[in-house]
Amino acid sequence: MTRIAIAGAGLAGLALARALADRAEITLFEKARGVGGRMATRYADSWQFDHGAQFFTAQSEAFQAFLAPLIERGTVARWDARFAEFVGGEQTAEWQWDGERPHYVGAPKMNALAKYLAADLDVRLGTRIATVEWDGDGWALNAEDGARLGRFDWFVSTAPAPQGRALMPSVFAHRDAMGAPDMRACYALMMGFEDPLPVDWDAAHVGDADISWMSVNSSKPGRDTAPSLLVHSTNAWAEAHLEDDPDTVTAHLLAEASRISGHDLAGAAHIALHRWRYANLPRQEGSEALLDPDERLAACGDWCIHGRVEAAFTSATALAERMRALLQDIGVSHR
Ligand SMILES: Cc1cc2nc3c(=O)[nH]c(=O)nc-3n(C[C@H](O)[C@H](O)[C@H](O)COP(=O)(O)OP(=O)(O)OC[C@H]3O[C@@H](n4cnc5c(N)ncnc54)[C@H](O)[C@@H]3O)c2cc1C
Repeated sequence: MTRIAIAGAGLAGLALARALADRAEITLFEKARGVGGRMATRYADSWQFDHGAQFFTAQSEAFQAFLAPLIERGTVARWDARFAEFVGGEQTAEWQWDGERPHYVGAPKMNALAKYLAADLDVRLGTRIATVEWDGDGWALNAEDGARLGRFDWFVSTAPAPQGRALMPSVFAHRDAMGAPDMRACYALMMGFEDPLPVDWDAAHVGDADISWMSVNSSKPGRDTAPSLLVHSTNAWAEAHLEDDPDTVTAHLLAEASRISGHDLAGAAHIALHRWRYANLPRQEGSEALLDPDERLAACGDWCIHGRVEAAFTSATALAERMRALLQDIGVSHR
């Protein structure tokens, strides 16, 4: 059977693996200790934080169909948040999210979706692919410490574009295209409290400030956790302060969140910061996925389309469709 190596076990990698599982032997390599990529969840004592993707929507019928069984089994749930808009420190609007334009989350935590998808896949966690080289008989993958990870007929990267481009062999026909997406950073500030927060919103978009988002993570469905607040910086502020001292970044974002929310948040019982180097990107114009059938190399991920969960799925599905046709034609493991 054709052997395929996939770099990354975020939604794109997992959706691709599942779509090809009946046509090939798939191995996913994931540098993190868990699956989910940017659909991540962090824990601290009795607090829990979805510190990457906050929620997702499903515009396409394909993504709605993919989610339907997950909603049915409770792995994905609708978040009917009380939503607020802030501009320049003033609350300008509020409304209730509902079923008309559903906002979904993984339940009881964001990474539950990825964990479910990964359950029957061969995922090698804590394994960062460092090099991908043609050894005369296939794509040979090596880890940072030089350990051999195996030889495969195909190599597919679902890592964020800059990381994937660094991995991709130079013969990949679309390697230059992987340099185009302008992926932007974001800081996540996680705060845990002993008592419920005195705010009358669950999620808030913030304009005209250095933070862009605040959410009461513990208000999401299925979260039986202590009160928690998650704050995201703007991409612009994160890019301008990428290498700043984390304590300075924490202090600034905390001050911004206190100013906008109207509550002094410095008394939080738990405060932690995470820097997402490649968080998201604006809508892209190119292909939904990149495929080089001659070299048996490919790449996909949200960065082909837009910095959204649904885009990761759409990109993986587009690539899977093209690869399935090829795997049917080729069917064997020769180049
Ligand atoms: C702060 C933040 C907020 C967001 N908010 C939202 C939101 O509210 N709504 C929404 O729809 N989307 C949001 N997003 C975007 C959403 O999370 C992504 O679009 C989606 O999760 C991307 O999935 P992916 O599989 O394409 O990439 P990823 O999830 O990034 O998966 C790629 C995987 O590749 C792994 N990897 C990288 N290099 C290697 C290597 N060399 N070897 C092995 N593994 C490797 C990474 O560890 C990662 O797990 C947000 C993202 C961030 C960071």
